[in-house]
Amino acid sequence: AVSLGQLVDWLSSFRDAVHEHGAYLTELDSAIGDADHGANLIRGMDAVMAALDPAPPTAGELLKKVGMTLVTSVGGASGPLYGTFFLRAGAVAGDATDLDGDGLVALLRAGLEGIVARGKAEAGDKTMYDALAPALDAFESALGGGSGVAGATRAAADAAAAGRDATEPLQALKGRASYLGERSIGHIDPGAASAALLVAALAEAVD
Ligand code: ADP
Ligand code: MG
Ligand code: MG
Repeated sequence: AVSLGQLVDWLSSFRDAVHEHGAYLTELDSAIGDADHGANLIRGMDAVMAALDPAPPTAGELLKKVGMTLVTSVGGASGPLYGTFFLRAGAVAGDATDLDGDGLVALLRAGLEGIVARGKAEAGDKTMYDALAPALDAFESALGGGSGVAGATRAAADAAAAGRDATEPLQALKGRASYLGERSIGHIDPGAASAALLVAALAEAVD
């Protein structure tokens, strides 16, 4: 099972990852956006870690705090989208103080549905969805195939990285990158790259 402490580790590990890879995320965003994706997530995750109760009472309270902080501290498209992910995940997590594999699937699935409700992305639109959706599918099928939660999160991280890489040949159909039309082809989507970091951070925290 995944404890509240491990959820906090997940967020802390994601904060570290956006610091470590912030320049890369911004470089990706400078090719097909406005060169702020790294800075947006660094600002957001620093605010999240500053706002977090180090010993949160429930998974729901923890995740909702994360979501609200991202929505209010990140100006770009990614703040409301990641914020909605965590708000919806928190609503599903509720009073839980630890999560088994199915519980984790339920909250991640709800989070992804929140991103879709907000941004209307579909598979192949070249967004964070293209890393997150295959990650969740891989997570669920690894669990179903008898992998433990740790193994399933590793499968999810691999699928997220593959999904990120698969955005390179796509033309962006959502967000700022879509304004470039065909000129968005040939670059990895910055949000897909940060989403892969988010899933990798989960695998690190749960291991
Ligand atoms: P902004 O584009 O406002 O500067 P960011 O640079 O922080 O915001 O985030 C850009 C990322 O947000 C994109 O790379 C893409 O993955 C994601 N994104 C943008 N619009 C959508 C959408 N409608 N649905 C899902 N993801 C989106
Ligand atoms: Mg941007
Ligand atoms: Mg911006």
